[in-house]
Amino acid sequence: MKRFDLPEEIVKAAKKGMGYELYRALLFEYGKRGEKAFFYIKEGRVKKYRDFFVVIGEHEYIVDNDFCTCRDFQFNLKTRRPCAHIIAVKTAKLMHKYDEYDEYYVDFMVK
Ligand SMILES: [Zn+2]
Repeated sequence: MKRFDLPEEIVKAAKKGMGYELYRALLFEYGKRGEKAFFYIKEGRVKKYRDFFVVIGEHEYIVDNDFCTCRDFQFNLKTRRPCAHIIAVKTAKLMHKYDEYDEYYVDFMVK
């Protein structure tokens, strides 16, 4: 199930790269969360492991499609709207702008 598909303006802007147009589209659609998402991508904080995407914010957050482990998503947004991490992963995927690791993130969690 893909509840949080990005609007067309963001998809279009992402095709042109990490410019002002994308920043503006994210900010317009998602406010502060969209702005945070832009900088997560720009600062290389989006990581793709074999099992999950991970975004490095204050902590490391696991993003699995339309789910994120952060408190903002679970408590403030009550899983009804995407958090900055979900927005960042979805946008980063459009541009293949993430670091990729040929490892399972879950292997780091059990250590
Ligand atoms: Zn999140």
